[in-house]
Amino acid sequence: MNTAEQPDDQSSLAILRRVFGYESFRHQQREIIERTLSGGDSVVLMPTGGGKSLCYQIPAIIRPGVGVIISPLIALMQDQVDTLVEYGVRAAYINSTLSFEEQARVQAKIRAQELDLLYIAPERLASEEFFAFLCSVNVALFAIDEAHCVSQWGHDFRPDYLKLDCLKEHFSGVPRMALTATADEPTRKDIFERLNLQDAKLFSTGFDRPNIRYHVQVKSNARQQLLSFIREEHQGDAGIVYCMSRKKVEKMAEWLSKQGLRALPYHAGLDPRMREEHQRTFLQEEGVIVVATIAFGMGIDKSNVRFVAHLDLPKSLEAYYQETGRAGRDGLPSSAWMVYGLGDVVALRQMLASSGTDQEQKFIEHRKLGSLLGFCETTDCRRHVLLRYFGEDAQGKCGNCDTCLTPVDSWDGSLEAQKALSCIYRTGQRFGVTYLVDVLVGKETERIVQFGHNHLSLFGSGSDRSHAEWTSIFRQLIAFGYITIDLAGYGGLQLAPECKPILQGEQQVHFRHDPHPRKSKQTATSHGASSKEKVNFESSELLKALRAKRMFLAKKQGVPPYVIFHDKTLLQMSQELPSTLEEFSQISGVGESKLAKYGDIFLELLNEHRSKA
Ligand code: ADP
Ligand code: ZN
Repeated sequence: MNTAEQPDDQSSLAILRRVFGYESFRHQQREIIERTLSGGDSVVLMPTGGGKSLCYQIPAIIRPGVGVIISPLIALMQDQVDTLVEYGVRAAYINSTLSFEEQARVQAKIRAQELDLLYIAPERLASEEFFAFLCSVNVALFAIDEAHCVSQWGHDFRPDYLKLDCLKEHFSGVPRMALTATADEPTRKDIFERLNLQDAKLFSTGFDRPNIRYHVQVKSNARQQLLSFIREEHQGDAGIVYCMSRKKVEKMAEWLSKQGLRALPYHAGLDPRMREEHQRTFLQEEGVIVVATIAFGMGIDKSNVRFVAHLDLPKSLEAYYQETGRAGRDGLPSSAWMVYGLGDVVALRQMLASSGTDQEQKFIEHRKLGSLLGFCETTDCRRHVLLRYFGEDAQGKCGNCDTCLTPVDSWDGSLEAQKALSCIYRTGQRFGVTYLVDVLVGKETERIVQFGHNHLSLFGSGSDRSHAEWTSIFRQLIAFGYITIDLAGYGGLQLAPECKPILQGEQQVHFRHDPHPRKSKQTATSHGASSKEKVNFESSELLKALRAKRMFLAKKQGVPPYVIFHDKTLLQMSQELPSTLEEFSQISGVGESKLAKYGDIFLELLNEHRSKA
């Protein structure tokens, strides 16, 4: 940053420093803000935690009139507004949770030019009365958050978003911006077209989330694996555990609670009041784990979610990226952890085979599944596989994923692949993996004897490898698409046409050596640099005290703790130990309003600590 720069009071940089307490802009924030200030439209693609909110908040403060933020979830508007009010920004929301009088009060403030930001849900614009009201006041800008909801392509489609195309016509000259963290090519196209943003400038800052460490393990005992992961790497941290079914969600939450963790279930089948309460607890308290189906998470902007775990495979890499993206919005080290096994691979292949008949759709899903399984089975850097999937150039090693930290060998398994495929063929393409592996290792089970497969020349031809090794080989062959699942019969394995060159010895096959879960864990935690910088609020008395003070203030005001200060801000306080208000104001995240409100309270605590030390 140019320190000689002297921003005037109403410049975007001055507001960033004075109101939000941040020193400089990130990525393209400055360009985006400038474009909006000059009246231009924008489409902003930034990963979660990239800093999208400031891109509309700052111009809404500077431009005359009220900035209208269209956000899909009314449940979260309160937090968004509380956060801004803490910064001393004049913000409010209007939604169905407000009484008629309360709504009228907010509208009166807008008329009196006393509000800089207004949050509403898209359906509110469909109300004629409200639309007429907006047309009669001065609007600074429209920000359409989670803009991917306008596309049917993803899984968050919201029909009300389609009506937002009329804003251009009725509010000419008012800049519009669409923001999202999810945007593959088709979604991006839909955003431009359906929101009438043909003249918008695209700002895309890349998808990498360098603070998230990716781990993917092969399932052996999923519960225990999860428990060790939490205990070893995230004791006392807030996290989300995703499962596929409601039943599994409930069982898992119960089991984790029995192990002494604070875990709450969340899925669409729960009583709405309970669901809401669990979400609130997760947002407002420290160290809570939510075990959930994918019904949980959209728009959750808790900044210090330290891990996201998947006990079942997500639907696609887009879904994986979005779900794991909920970890570490504050930029501090966080984990995306997943286990998968043969059963998951089979289940997904089955699901694909039984899904509709639309050939084009099937082809797309086929490719998406292939990419997801490729990510699981890769021996390459995981981050790079992800980034390349989103069209970004990535080379080398990231140093912060399991395959970089504990390199995985691959081996030439062409011969083994031939044996496995022949075994499917010779036994009539109707048996499952366990049976086939028994034949290969030469186990004389009752069924094998009954079918006479103990007389095949293949019987026992793979006895040099363990059951687990052969299972891994089958899993990978299914993942690569060389084997399909018979849906008409009992789910036996069948040969896909793609396996022909392998059987004819014209194509080599490379398999990954599945690392032993325990071994990979040890190496990962002994990896110095990244684990040292990990936030551990249990480790220092001062951090514990700072966190307790924050919780006390949050409870008093009925807001989540991170609305008072982010973890990052507390961490910096504990490292720099400011002793005057002037020094305190230098901490990132301390703006004018928070300095006035909390400066003395936290300085007192820090001084006490100093005198004890
Ligand atoms: P997004 O909406 O893109 O997921 P947010 O707008 O919530 O991300 O920002 C993520 C975090 O980064 C927030 O805690 C925010 O205050 C912080 N942040 C944003 N811009 C800056 C900046 N220029 N300097 C420091 N912190 C920032
Ligand atoms: Zn890596």
